[in-house]
Amino acid sequence: MGTKDSGLSNKESNNTAKPNIAFIGLGNMGAPMAENLLKAGYTLSVYDLSAEATARLQQAGASVAASPKDAASNAQVVISMLPAGKHVHSVYLGNNGAEGLLAELPKGTLVIDSSTIAAADARLVAEAASKLGIDFLDAPVSGGTGGAIAGSLTFIVGGSDDAFAKAEPILAVMGKNIFHAGEHGAGQVAKICNNMLLGILMAGTAEAINLGVKNGLDPKVLSDIMLQSSGRNWTLEVYNPYPQVMENVPSSNGYKGGFMSKLMQKDLNLAMQTAKDTDVETPMGAKATELYEAHTVENGDKDFSSIMARHDSSVLS
Ligand code: NAD
Repeated sequence: MGTKDSGLSNKESNNTAKPNIAFIGLGNMGAPMAENLLKAGYTLSVYDLSAEATARLQQAGASVAASPKDAASNAQVVISMLPAGKHVHSVYLGNNGAEGLLAELPKGTLVIDSSTIAAADARLVAEAASKLGIDFLDAPVSGGTGGAIAGSLTFIVGGSDDAFAKAEPILAVMGKNIFHAGEHGAGQVAKICNNMLLGILMAGTAEAINLGVKNGLDPKVLSDIMLQSSGRNWTLEVYNPYPQVMENVPSSNGYKGGFMSKLMQKDLNLAMQTAKDTDVETPMGAKATELYEAHTVENGDKDFSSIMARHDSSVLS
């Protein structure tokens, strides 16, 4: 119960001896992130509720555990990539009387949660971890599934300098840009600011493309024009919401995979809650939240670029 020493030191994490890693949550993002760690020579023990998800990682060389505790039994580092705050809470702190993973980890274990959750939830887990002598970092990511596959994610980290230094070489395997945003929760605050802007940009880009298409323009020609003009943004660069404008993006694949609309809605709700709690005005964010709330009623599992269907439902067929 949090008394053994994990054996992880700065020297080890920065140098030759690679720590064993427990990876929990192997969905659209977690699976490719874990695969990149395997490719870099880390020993991984993985856990997910879905057998399909763990089978993919087993094929890639990970050992599959029967519980988070089993996954972490021989690990110095735990990484999680779970859908929302309630999943992070139940894995680390437990629920319905069941003990969470934190209580099982040796002192000195490094826990990196890359899920996007409320800063308050991240601080709660960090506080519980700190009481047990465990280093906790909130380390949400940006860059989408493409970035997760390519190992080019942006990590936005909150937590102590020491824990950040230990985590950096591991995060560098999965990401290209690694920011230390500040203390516990700071990573999550920065992440929801980014995702509120992304929700606004995606909704606005879909709206602009639809206006052009309804006025006789080819969506690819219009996208190319805006890409070289002042409307240029990330969605036009790598994630066009209109089908067949770009290859290898969810809109050209029936809006499957990618970043589910319900997860974007979760992030927008987190941004709205933060704005409310801190008395900050976010009118554009509020509009994007309203649009995604309506969209997710029928399309929650589709990629968030499917907000295009709000204007033209034929894109879904
Ligand atoms: P996902 O739904 O594809 O994957 C989540 C995985 O967690 C699933 O495999 C699920 O079975 C597993 N899971 C749920 N509860 C669990 C539990 N108690 N124990 C073990 N496994 C459990 O979601 P995703 O797209 O991979 O997103 C994960 C997180 O990353 C979310 O917080 C999301 O907001 C964030 N994110 C996603 C993207 C993206 O483009 N998909 C980009 C940046 C950030």
